[in-house]
Amino acid sequence: MKQVVSAETIVSMLKQVTSSDKDFVALHEPSFQGNEWTYVKDCLDTGWVSSVGKYVDRLEEMLQEFTGVKRAVAVVNGTAALHICLKLVGVERDDEVIIPALTFIATANAVTYCDAIPHFVDSSEETLGLDPLKLGDYLQEIAEVRNHTCFNKKTGRRIKAVVPMHTFGHPVELDTLVEVCQRYHLELVEDAAESLGSYYKGTHTGNWGRVSALSFNGNKIVTTGGGGAILTNDETLGRLAKHITTTAKVPHKWEFVHDQIGYNYRMPNINAALGCAQLEQLPDFLPKKRALAKFYENQFLHFEGASFVSEPKHCRSNYWLNAIRLSADYMNLRDEILRATNEQGMMTRPVWRLLSSLPMYADAPQMDLSVAKKLEQSIVNIPSSAHLGGTYVEA
Ligand SMILES: *Cc1c(COP(=O)(O)O)cnc(C)c1O
Repeated sequence: MKQVVSAETIVSMLKQVTSSDKDFVALHEPSFQGNEWTYVKDCLDTGWVSSVGKYVDRLEEMLQEFTGVKRAVAVVNGTAALHICLKLVGVERDDEVIIPALTFIATANAVTYCDAIPHFVDSSEETLGLDPLKLGDYLQEIAEVRNHTCFNKKTGRRIKAVVPMHTFGHPVELDTLVEVCQRYHLELVEDAAESLGSYYKGTHTGNWGRVSALSFNGNKIVTTGGGGAILTNDETLGRLAKHITTTAKVPHKWEFVHDQIGYNYRMPNINAALGCAQLEQLPDFLPKKRALAKFYENQFLHFEGASFVSEPKHCRSNYWLNAIRLSADYMNLRDEILRATNEQGMMTRPVWRLLSSLPMYADAPQMDLSVAKKLEQSIVNIPSSAHLGGTYVEA
């Protein structure tokens, strides 16, 4: 028997998951059950809290091993990682960079930090991320390739790169996107901030772009307090990423020589210590998050008017943030659901406002955004912390 979606039915469904005695359930909170205290204390005891210390190297090695990329470079946050990724692939002043309209603000801001212009494209119903087929059709209409370089016929500007984002941990259709990028000579940079632990056709996200960005902010699947990483399979770019995120200093015993404009984007050792302890637990977080998602997925099979966002075809998602979608006839319930759940201490959130509607990006070029607009009105994120899934892992 189907249950019609309403603020009340969502509240009572969520109560099953969050049945604990807590009177507040976060959307996503970190869990520090491993070696966090030990490693952070080690930094304090030895005095190595800042720009030198063993945990940065260790974190980078652990990331390489986990994701399969050749080189990981730890940085201060995911936004800084994106900024450097764009620099590394050669994004310059007045270039256009294709990004989804439905993403976190950092994706667009990183483009702006390069004095480049975000060009907003639509999302896919299935993945919630950039739709590569729709992008391909759009480029056929607006772009031309001259001298192995893609130009926007309308604006005359070079289109340099495409930055897909794996929304809530669900990978976009990467092989189709790689093909579109090759056809139009566009650099592919993955915003994998939300997708540590997510795979497309068996390969970890972040391996498909020439460079990719991760985030370890407090709300992500693993946290370093604040932090991020640049991933690449190109060893030359990997070395360059390390160099320019550490002030482009030429190694020398005492001299200060810097050979280009660099950035002070290095992750401090104390944050990396936290990150090492967190990454050790990622193999434990992932099954809990999957079990929680499966529980939600089953619950929503019985709902009329709302559905759970499941992992796309060919993907294994980390289920970082669980989401439901209201169908067209029920979208008007969104705000009531948000209000009722938050009033009851169950944190839920709408998805981001489309970046193309924000004042600083209102004049940026954009394609038809009809799917993204629909998603903007119909998505609600629901509590997703790994520990909530603990009770479902065996079941
Ligand atoms: C978290 C996030 C980032 C980076 O955020 P920081 O807070 O700078 O680490 C970038 N893009 C997306 C889509 C994100 O969710």
